[in-house]
Amino acid sequence: MKTKLIIFILLLLFITSSFAQECTNTLPFNTWLEQFKQDATAQGISPNTVNATLNGVRYDASIIKRDRRQVQFSQNFSTFLGKVISAYRIQKGQKLILQHAKLLQDIENRFGVPRSVLVAFWGLESDFGQNMGNENTIRSLATLAYDCRRTEKFRGELLAALRLIDQGDLTAREMRGAWAGEIGQTQFLPSYYLQYAVDFDGDGKRNLIRSTADALASTANYLKQLGWRSGEPWLEEVVLPSNLPWEQSGLEQSYPISYWASLGLRRADNLPLGGSLYASLLLPMGKDGAAFLVYHNFKNAYLIWNESLLYSTTAAYFATRLSGAKPMQPNRAKIASLTFAQVKTLQQRLVQRGYNVGNVDGIIGENTRIAVKQIQRQLGMPMDGYPTVELLQWLQK
Ligand code: CA
Repeated sequence: MKTKLIIFILLLLFITSSFAQECTNTLPFNTWLEQFKQDATAQGISPNTVNATLNGVRYDASIIKRDRRQVQFSQNFSTFLGKVISAYRIQKGQKLILQHAKLLQDIENRFGVPRSVLVAFWGLESDFGQNMGNENTIRSLATLAYDCRRTEKFRGELLAALRLIDQGDLTAREMRGAWAGEIGQTQFLPSYYLQYAVDFDGDGKRNLIRSTADALASTANYLKQLGWRSGEPWLEEVVLPSNLPWEQSGLEQSYPISYWASLGLRRADNLPLGGSLYASLLLPMGKDGAAFLVYHNFKNAYLIWNESLLYSTTAAYFATRLSGAKPMQPNRAKIASLTFAQVKTLQQRLVQRGYNVGNVDGIIGENTRIAVKQIQRQLGMPMDGYPTVELLQWLQK
């Protein structure tokens, strides 16, 4: 009897967990859409906007295909950086900073966010407005909202998109962007657009697609609302002495700059490292790779903009280059990075040992780094939180 019950529970767990991964859409798309239209009207969006925008919208299977495809991009910071920040992109960014000097100064005066930070996001998100995506936003969002996996998130985004149209910020026709619904020169999802966009060119509309002034000022406004502190740095490249208490690296702890200076860290540009701000030592590729001090603005603005450490470090570093930082120091030794599959194996092994690594996703994020440090401690290795092949081999024993 007991065995039967256990088998039944196991079976139930199995069924629920497979449903969580492979859920089913229960209604036909058009029936779902009619229900959504009623909900949207009930939420205060004018019936005219609802009908004109949603009548005839069709389900786009290619969006779901793209959404389900697992992206396996390089986790190697230098490789990623080399791909997205070319010398050409840095030059173009610097040229645009000069070209838009007056606008960027006005934005800086009002929101306190430096021009290099804004132009770096502009470059990474849409290649400075050149590549914003050309998908029909409403169709993308309706498809993703209908799909059973992240219904709530995308229903919210579709409602936000309807509100933007209802308020006259954009027409449904001009609302085109990335396949997952991001719009404009710095790729805002509609809910962010609704909440943070500002009209900065004074035409009474918030147009993040056609107006560079609106797009850059809205980006600054969003960063300011996240808590950007005017006049404070976000990230600085540093040069390390050969020996450090490596366990003090990582975003989970921060120390006053004076403390880091006392350990022998210096700025890569040789300017003095000092002051009372707190910073964390970020080692994207471990103790032999690039080293950065990161500040409040990095942790509270960049990492909220995009929780990927790789993206945020890249965007923040790009901004320093646009403000004149020199090219990065070479690595202090050859670094053998784990592949995507190896990182996944590493994470599985860590989970088996009871560590919390967040998702087993092949990405070396904060939780994985913290777990790796604990293993490094056990093995007497330098605790820089960056997994080596040697460490993976030990875990696989
Ligand atoms: Ca405007």
